[in-house]
Amino acid sequence: RLPIVVIAGRPNVGKSTLFNRIIKKRKAITDPTPGVTRDTIQERCFVRDQEVLLMDTGGFKLERDDSFDELVAQKSLKMLEQGDLILFIMDVNDITSEDETFIENLRSYQDKVLLVVNKIDHPDKENEIWNLYSLGFEHIIGISATHGRNMEGLQDKIVSMI
Ligand code: GDP
Ligand code: MG
Repeated sequence: RLPIVVIAGRPNVGKSTLFNRIIKKRKAITDPTPGVTRDTIQERCFVRDQEVLLMDTGGFKLERDDSFDELVAQKSLKMLEQGDLILFIMDVNDITSEDETFIENLRSYQDKVLLVVNKIDHPDKENEIWNLYSLGFEHIIGISATHGRNMEGLQDKIVSMI
């Protein structure tokens, strides 16, 4: 069975941008408006020599506002369960209560979570990663999905954790 790598996180952190960069095609929709990518998009691709099934979870929601969202939340949790590796994406410039909700729900999957701190567009932002070790995730890496920063390091880390 192919290892499943799930890209998770609240809207607008850069999940689809990262997905596109890893698969090197423009299959997932990226949009500056939060919530535009609705469905899960998956693609078989190689990370180094390791073939994986990469999943971009658009429309991923863990907050329960009404009965519809309850269903979406359950589907999202199921995806976290199925993943052999969860890339939990955060935006270094904008940490919100939605992120906190994800952090709570990811606690039970700690061992298979790689916290990917995105939008590290400049080297002087790299120091901010250290503050995020207090969130309790053992595996953390900083990248910039739009600039392609540290994509080599990310791929090495993914392969080492699968
Ligand atoms: P998603 O909702 O998590 O899938 O996020 P998207 O991939 O659609 O990206 C949301 C917005 O963040 C878009 O305007 C992206 O261009 C922008 N973005 C994504 N990655 C980066 C990054 O590394 N640096 C900066 N500055 N912007 C980014
Ligand atoms: Mg998206």
